[in-house]
Amino acid sequence: EKYVYDFSEGHKDLKELLGGKGANLAEMTRLGLPVPAGFTVTTRACQAYLATGQNPDGLDAEIDEHLAALERTMGRRLGDAEDPLLVSVRSGAAFSMPGMMETVLNVGLTDASVAGLAAQAGGNDRFAWDSYRRLIQMFGKTVCDVPGEEFSDALEEAKKAKGTTDDLHLDAADLRALVDRFKRIFAKHTGYDFPQDPREQLRLAMEAVFRSWNAERAVLYRRQERIPADLGTAVNVCSMVFGNLGADSGTGVAFTRDPASGAQGIYGDYLSNAQGEDVVAGIRNTVPLEDLQRLDAKSYEELLAIMAKLEGHYRDLCDIEFTIERGKLWMLQTRVGKRTAAAAFRIAAQLVNEGVITLDEALRRVSGAQLAQLMFPRFDLSDEPAALTKGIGASPGAASGKAVFSAQRAVELAAEGEDVILVRRETNPEDLAGMIAARGILTARGGKTSHAAVVARGMGRTCVCGADELEIARDRFTVDGQTVAEGDVLSIDGTTGRVYLGAVPVQPSEVVQYFEGDEVDSTLVEAVDTIMRHADATRRLAVRTNADTGEDAARARRFGAEGIGLCRTEHMFLGDRKELVERLILSSTESARNDALAALLPLQRADFVDLFRAMDGLPVTVRLIDPPLHEFLPSLEELAVNVAVARERGEENAEEAQLLDAVRRMHEQNPMLGLRGVRLGLVIPGLFAMQVRAIAEAAVQLAGEGLHPRPEIMVPLVGAVQELEMVRQECEQIVAEVVAGSGVEVLIGTMIEVPRAALTAGQIAEAADFFSFGTNDLTQMGWGFSRDDVEGAFFWRYLELGIFGISPFESIDRDGVGRLIRIAAEEGRAVRPDLKLGVCGEHGGDPESVHFFHEVGLDYVSCSPFRVPVARLEAGRAAV
Ligand code: ADP
Ligand code: MG
Ligand code: MG
Repeated sequence: EKYVYDFSEGHKDLKELLGGKGANLAEMTRLGLPVPAGFTVTTRACQAYLATGQNPDGLDAEIDEHLAALERTMGRRLGDAEDPLLVSVRSGAAFSMPGMMETVLNVGLTDASVAGLAAQAGGNDRFAWDSYRRLIQMFGKTVCDVPGEEFSDALEEAKKAKGTTDDLHLDAADLRALVDRFKRIFAKHTGYDFPQDPREQLRLAMEAVFRSWNAERAVLYRRQERIPADLGTAVNVCSMVFGNLGADSGTGVAFTRDPASGAQGIYGDYLSNAQGEDVVAGIRNTVPLEDLQRLDAKSYEELLAIMAKLEGHYRDLCDIEFTIERGKLWMLQTRVGKRTAAAAFRIAAQLVNEGVITLDEALRRVSGAQLAQLMFPRFDLSDEPAALTKGIGASPGAASGKAVFSAQRAVELAAEGEDVILVRRETNPEDLAGMIAARGILTARGGKTSHAAVVARGMGRTCVCGADELEIARDRFTVDGQTVAEGDVLSIDGTTGRVYLGAVPVQPSEVVQYFEGDEVDSTLVEAVDTIMRHADATRRLAVRTNADTGEDAARARRFGAEGIGLCRTEHMFLGDRKELVERLILSSTESARNDALAALLPLQRADFVDLFRAMDGLPVTVRLIDPPLHEFLPSLEELAVNVAVARERGEENAEEAQLLDAVRRMHEQNPMLGLRGVRLGLVIPGLFAMQVRAIAEAAVQLAGEGLHPRPEIMVPLVGAVQELEMVRQECEQIVAEVVAGSGVEVLIGTMIEVPRAALTAGQIAEAADFFSFGTNDLTQMGWGFSRDDVEGAFFWRYLELGIFGISPFESIDRDGVGRLIRIAAEEGRAVRPDLKLGVCGEHGGDPESVHFFHEVGLDYVSCSPFRVPVARLEAGRAAV
C-alpha cells in the first residue's frame, strides 16, 4: 500500500485519503500555482498507527524516499547546519476539526542549523532566532503538551523587559536569550532536552498529528457533528517559506467572495513581516487585503489572478492562505470556504447567473437546515451590541428575557407573564418544567448533544449551551468581571451562540415575508426564489401540511403546501365542546348518546367547511378521532378528591359519584396503548359515523357552491385489516348516501403506525385507498419508547453514548422504523399499484428523513406549515 503522496501526485478528489488540506495542496500544484514542494502521509497510515501504536510496515522507508526527493528538489537537506531545509508539519483530515493538533512550523531548526538559516537569509540573525523560538514554542505545546502559557508568559516578560508590546522590537540577542529560556521550559516539562536531530523532530511531530485524532476535544467534536470516529487524519509535510523576513514579506488570508453575505469582491487580511499563525492569533493588527496593492503590487495582481483561477476551477467560494517571501507569492492552502446560510443561497444563485453552475448544482449546495435558519426571526444587530459571551448555538432562534437560575423561578415568573431565560450550569430532567416555561435556555456546560440541547431542540426552544466562560452561582453569574443577577435581561442567539446583556430588538425574517407572499426587495430573497422554483420543478415528492384550522391551512398553502396530509379532528373536540364529548363517552343510553352526537355534528361540519374552503381543489386528509379517552374526561384524581371531600361534609352528590365510577372504569394504566383510534370507533357506536357524515356533508355543501373539495378519510391506529374493513363498510354507506349526485369523491385509507400494520400491509391495502405513515407512533411503538417520557429523561444520555446519533423522533431511523415503512410501501403497492403513500408526523419536515421518503417512493410528505418550504427544498435536493 502506498502511504505517501507527493503534492504533484494527488488531486482534489482524494480528500478521504489525503485530507482536505493535502488534496487541495495537490490540486493547486497540478494547476501550476506556486505551492512550496512537499508530500502528504495518508489517513490510512494514521488509521494503522492508531490501531497498533506504531507506523505500519514500509511507511518509514516511504517517508525517507519522499524526504530525499524533497531535499533534491529544494537543493537543501533537512536541518543541515550550513544551509538547512525547514518544513512545516500540518494535520489535515477530510473534515476540518477543531481540537486536533494544528501545525508545527520551522521543523529542522537546531542549535547547529540556526546559524545556517541566518546565513541563508543574508545574515539575518534576528529572523533565524525568531524562527527557532517559534519552533520550540509550537513543538513544545502541540507535540509535547507543554502548557502554552509558559511560553507566552516568557515572551511577554521579554517584551516588558525591553519596554515594548511589539515582538518586532525584540532583537537577535533578545530572541536568542528567549530560545534559551524556552529550552529550559521544554526540558522542565518533558524531562528531556529539545531534540537536536531534525529527523527526530519530524518523526515526533508526525506521530503527534496522528495521535491528535483522538484528542479529547476532537473526539467530542466528531460526536457532535456525527463524523465517523475511524477516518483518521493525514499529515502534510511542506517546505517552509518565510513571511517574517522583513517588510517585503508577510502572510495573509483571503476569500474569493464575502463568506457572510456572498457578495463578490476581495475580502481578506494581510500582515507584513509575520509568520502563519500571527494573522489568526491577532497579535498585531492586520491590514485589509486591498492594502497589499500598495505594499506589493506585483504579488497583489498575481494573487487576484490566482483567486479568479481557483474560483473558476472549484466553481465556488474559496478561502485561501498565502505567504509572501521577499516579494514572491506562495499558496499555502485553499478550500471551498465555509459560509453563512444567507451566503450559501446568494452564492449558489450568483454562480447560476454567471453561468458557472447549473440549477441542479445550486440546489445541491444549499440545504433545508440553512433555509430553516433563514426563517427564524433574528436579532437586529444594526446597533452592533457587544456580546457578553459566546457558547454553542444548540437550538436556533432569538430569545430575550429575564435571567433566572432555577427551573422553579422560571415557572413562577413565567406564570406572572414574564419572558425568562433559564440559566443553568447544565440541565437535567428535573429542569424540564422550567425549560418549558422559559423563552430560551443558556448553559455553561455541554455540547450539542447535552440534555439542554436535545430537549430544547425537541421543544423548539432557543438554546445556547457550553458558554464555558460563565461562572454560575446560585442566583447570579459572572463573566469577564460582569455580574448578571436574577431579573437582568439577557438575549440569546441560538444560531450563533452569542449572548447579549439587555433586550436586543428582534426583526422578522425576510424569507418568511417572501413565503407569505409579500413583496420583499432583497438579493437574498431573489436567490431563495430562484432555488425554490427549481426545487419545485425538480421534486417528485409532493408536500402537504398538518393543519386543523382554516387559518393554518391558508398559511401553509401560501408556503406552498399542496394539500393537508393530517387534520387532527380531536383538536376540534376541546374547549366548550369537551362537555359534549364527555356526555357522549359516558352516556349509558342510546338516546343520550344520539343526542350528544347530534349536537356535535353541525360543529364538526362547520370545521370541515372552513378547512376544505382553504384547501379548495387540493386533497385534505382528515383523521378520525384518535387520542386516548382520558384526554376527554375529567381527571380521576381531582374527581376522587371532590367526591371524598363532599362525602366528608355529608354533601354527597349522586351524579358526581356516578361520574367517578365511570371514569374509574375507563382509567387506563397506559393510555397510549389503550382505547384509542380505530378501537374507539369500533367500541362507541355512531362516533365515526358522525364524523364521516360531517365530512361528506361539508364537501357536498362546498360542491354546491361550485368549489372542489377533495376529502380523504383516514382511520388511525389500525393493526389488522379486519378493523379497517369494518370501519370502511360503515363509512362507505354513509358517504354514498350523502354525496349521491354531488360529484364529490371521498377516499378512505388508513394510517400505518402500528408495527403490525406495516408487516401486514399487503392485507391492509385491500381495504385502503391510501396509506399515511404515522412516523411518530411508528417510532414510539417500533422502539417501545414513550415519547413524552423518554426525551427529557434519558435521550441525552443515549446520544452521549452514541446509541443513536440523533433522536429517532427527530430524524427517521432508517434501519428499523424505516425498514417497516419500506416493507409496507412495497407490499402495499404489490397488491394495489395505485395505492397513494404519504407520511404525516414531524419527520415529514426533517431534511434527512425527506430524502429517505423519496428513496422508498412515497408520493408525499406532510409537515407543520413552517416546515413546508424546508420539505419542498429537500424534496428537490433528493431528486437531483
Ligand atoms: P490550519 O489548519 O490551522 O490552518 P495550517 O497547516 O494551515 O493550519 O497552518 C497554520 C499556519 O501556518 C497557516 O497560516 C499557514 O499558512 C502557515 N504555514 C503552514 N505551512 C507553512 C509553510 N510551509 N510555510 C509557511 N507558512 C506555513
Ligand atoms: Mg490553514
Ligand atoms: Mg398516531
